[in-house]
Amino acid sequence: MKLVDILSGLQSKILWNEPLALHTSFKVGGPADAFIYPKNSVELSQLMKKIDEHKIPYFVLGDGSNLVMPDEGYRGVVINLSLFDEIKIIHKDDEKILVKVGAGVLKQKLLFWSIEQGFSGLEFLAGVPGQVGGGIFMNAGTKGGSFCDITEKIFMINTNGELEEQLVTKENFSYRSQNFCKNKIMMGAILRLHYGDKEKMMEVVKTVIAERKAIQPLNFPNCGSVFKNPKGYYAGKLIEDAGLKGYRVGHAQISTKHGNFIVNLGGAAAKDIVAIIEHAKKRVKEVHGVTLEEEVIIVHKD
Ligand SMILES: Cc1cc2nc3c(=O)[nH]c(=O)nc-3n(C[C@H](O)[C@H](O)[C@H](O)COP(=O)(O)OP(=O)(O)OC[C@H]3O[C@@H](n4cnc5c(N)ncnc54)[C@H](O)[C@@H]3O)c2cc1C
Repeated sequence: MKLVDILSGLQSKILWNEPLALHTSFKVGGPADAFIYPKNSVELSQLMKKIDEHKIPYFVLGDGSNLVMPDEGYRGVVINLSLFDEIKIIHKDDEKILVKVGAGVLKQKLLFWSIEQGFSGLEFLAGVPGQVGGGIFMNAGTKGGSFCDITEKIFMINTNGELEEQLVTKENFSYRSQNFCKNKIMMGAILRLHYGDKEKMMEVVKTVIAERKAIQPLNFPNCGSVFKNPKGYYAGKLIEDAGLKGYRVGHAQISTKHGNFIVNLGGAAAKDIVAIIEHAKKRVKEVHGVTLEEEVIIVHKD
């Protein structure tokens, strides 16, 4: 049965043969057979049932800010939850505020909404792109904190299309990872915030954003840090000390500004980025004896 017929009963917006380069911060990735924006949990559930029944490969793409999608594209369904965009205060007392947030809400939008309300706890997200769902999946963070510090409960859907809820603690998270989302799609979360001073928060956030602009090559498409920092080291420093800054394959290059960034100089292919990643791992191992592990998620064609 053709994919177009399988998905025909759904009310959600579907883009056919949609170039993934349009949906990733690296601006790489060939066409996905179908790129779908489920409009609510009922539609998402129906979609997952169809995917399960017809054994269709699927991939959840948030804002695409931590991904290398293959040049060949994706044979299956790419799911984007940007319509799960609700932000709702569900509890307030003297100490804490609980906010229910859709997985598709952009982190920067949530951060500035929160400051506007006088709620603190999200300042660590200053300048971190992407959706809340992708952020929780990655346990995204900075030296100011990570999602593990504020996440209370997760709303998910499994491959049978059933809704699930799970209370979570710091123990469910690790460095840029978590243990609850395997084969599940996150629809939203409850985040725990507290009261703060609007002006002070805004000052902190503005300073952090300015600092990030000064050291990150934000004028070229990139994915943020390519590698995790190995215990006791900074990946960027290891790469720089191995003489790799400026190393180029095709139109991709290790940034001359920051060793842990790869930039797309214009027209780079995913395979160029992957080749740089492999070379950097090999050279850093040879020069420093340290094994680098990717933070960026590389999706392979098969
Ligand atoms: C300029 C720049 C700076 C960055 N700085 C930082 C930083 O300081 N700290 C940091 O931690 N990261 C940083 N990143 C990386 C990236 O922004 C984060 O990892 C971000 O949280 C990814 O969110 P996303 O929506 O883009 O997810 P995507 O890149 O789209 O997806 C990432 C992973 O999450 C999964 N996923 C996404 N949404 C869902 C969902 N709803 N349910 C289940 N799985 C899902 C995807 O399948 C994929 O495996 C940076 C990236 C850039 C481009």
